[in-house]
Amino acid sequence: MKIAVCINHVPDTAAKISITSDGKGVETSGAAYVVNPYDEFAIEEALRTKEKLGGETIAISLGGEANKETLRKALAMGIDEAILLKDENVRDSLSVAKALSDEIKLIGAEIVFFGKQSVDYDNSIVGQLVAELLNYNSITTVVKLNINGNNIVAEREIEGGKEIVETSIPVVITTQKGLNEPRYASLKGIMAAKKKTIIEKQPKSYQNYVEIIELKRPAQKQAGRILGTDASAVPELVRLLREEAKVI
Ligand SMILES: Cc1cc2nc3c(=O)[nH]c(=O)nc-3n(C[C@H](O)[C@H](O)[C@H](O)COP(=O)(O)OP(=O)(O)OC[C@H]3O[C@@H](n4cnc5c(N)ncnc54)[C@H](O)[C@@H]3O)c2cc1C
Repeated sequence: MKIAVCINHVPDTAAKISITSDGKGVETSGAAYVVNPYDEFAIEEALRTKEKLGGETIAISLGGEANKETLRKALAMGIDEAILLKDENVRDSLSVAKALSDEIKLIGAEIVFFGKQSVDYDNSIVGQLVAELLNYNSITTVVKLNINGNNIVAEREIEGGKEIVETSIPVVITTQKGLNEPRYASLKGIMAAKKKTIIEKQPKSYQNYVEIIELKRPAQKQAGRILGTDASAVPELVRLLREEAKVI
């Protein structure tokens, strides 16, 4: 059985991001990049699934040369094979999903893991699109997973509770924090990963249907005002909350 995991290479959320001069993109030079945090749960679950069922794990990433760093991390954690669908152009989610689906179909993976969302554009849609394109079953935001033969029982996080669902292979699963504790790459794993070849492929181009018109920073927060340091400031504070902020 082939188990695929799709992983994205994203700007570190702790890094300061700057917008390109045309206002439509993110400045990539100098920015720190990491494996998309939700994809680490997907990698770990792919490894656990192989440990339980056997088979082969394959990590796939679509993007530029830099995505190899993320694929290398997956290999160091224990993934068997890594494929880079090399494309330096920014694609919309559907175009990403179409290219990933082509590759998943080609390698014949029947269990496919995704993170629940990618922390760059946060669309939370690529996994579901791939499931639809491949006509696979799909379970999203999974926090517990039990694969038994062809049968899959999963627990999903929903507003104010949990939902237990059942389905069968072939399946796309998107992973949520809490599903597992991603392992650290061992020194042996890191050394072995350095020697492994990352397979590079040219994905088919697909039309983008969504275009970024403009990226904007959130409005600067105004500095706070100190009205006083004792109880005498309370009447003015209440007046301002009522008349200016209009919150009481
Ligand atoms: C600075 C910057 C540079 C970019 N450069 C490129 C580029 O060179 N080439 C390019 O094609 N796109 C590029 N993109 C687009 C990027 O790949 C987006 O992440 C992609 O469009 C999906 O975003 P999303 O929010 O729709 O993903 P979501 O739907 O939120 O992602 C859900 C899950 O889908 C999977 N996934 C998402 N994107 C990928 C991917 N690219 N590869 C493998 N799995 C994925 C992951 O498992 C992820 O957890 C760039 C984006 C930014 C911000």
